[in-house]
Amino acid sequence: MDHTGYIIDTLRRGEMPSEDALVHLIEECDEESVSRVCRAAQAVAEERFGRRVWLRGLVEVWSRCEGGCRYCGLRAENCDLVRYEMSSEEIIGACREAYRLGLRTFVLQGGQVRDRVEKVESIVRRLKEEFADVAVTLSLGEQTREAYERWRRAGADRYLLRHETASEEHYKELHPERMNFHHRRECLAWLKELGYQTGAGMMVGSPHQRVEDLVADLRYLRELRPEMVGIGPFMPQADTPMAAHPRGSVERTLLMVALVRLMLPDAMIPATTALASASESGTLRGVMAGANVVMPNVTPRCYREHYVIYDHKKQTGSEAAEGIAGLAADLQTIDYKICWEK
Ligand code: SF4
Repeated sequence: MDHTGYIIDTLRRGEMPSEDALVHLIEECDEESVSRVCRAAQAVAEERFGRRVWLRGLVEVWSRCEGGCRYCGLRAENCDLVRYEMSSEEIIGACREAYRLGLRTFVLQGGQVRDRVEKVESIVRRLKEEFADVAVTLSLGEQTREAYERWRRAGADRYLLRHETASEEHYKELHPERMNFHHRRECLAWLKELGYQTGAGMMVGSPHQRVEDLVADLRYLRELRPEMVGIGPFMPQADTPMAAHPRGSVERTLLMVALVRLMLPDAMIPATTALASASESGTLRGVMAGANVVMPNVTPRCYREHYVIYDHKKQTGSEAAEGIAGLAADLQTIDYKICWEK
């Protein structure tokens, strides 16, 4: 059997292909192999989920952050960024609007701050009281175990915390000394223990990343078995130390999405905003590589321009409702439709 066929078959059997084979595939990333792996991954997604894409309403609750990730525009060291924080009423209002549009999962995402445990707890509780049929996802970085526990008890269902890289050496290149590779993993383990549906994931093409690191990411994801996996290309941001590094390859990102779909057939995998920002047809190509989630941005327009994790972030330039209608029309061109379930 040829190389690509061996990798597809091995992953579909639930086994891990050899390191050499994966390194070769990811390094070469030739058009024919990428499209074969994507077709196989799309078939797996279709078997499990049908030709459907789930929507999650994203609310970017604040641009404050104590973290210092060298690739991210929200890093605490970036003094040029406008920092905002939505009030509880504004956050709940944005979720109400998302609900009115038919969305049944709210994703509250923001920089990593440790002083908003109570605020988040009370918002989650209010959302779960007001909307009996929604899932609440949090994406607020590394926190104490107690914070995760309180939010879980308040009703939070899911938590997104990308591991970013499974290589400690690479982690140290991307993060300042005050951030710790093992703590990130500890947080992911806590989230799992606390019963969150947990999301991990990584950037493709980030500075200092080796192909072997991407293989390590696959191994780590296989071990962690997260319920959600977010994968996007590295996108540079002008006010960061990594501004000059070129953006990650769209093809390699699609390949990684497809490999993860083959490896974790039941995972919810978004066609990320970074992918859509890097390529005009990124969302549809993501779906055709096995992704099954899209996260429309329902943050009030006045805040969106300040949530600058990277530059050239795709803005629909319209209200969320128009964005969703556009997405439905785009999906129809590849014979997919929106799934409104939580
Ligand atoms: S990636 Fe998250 S924790 Fe790191 S600087 Fe950006 S918002 Fe903060």
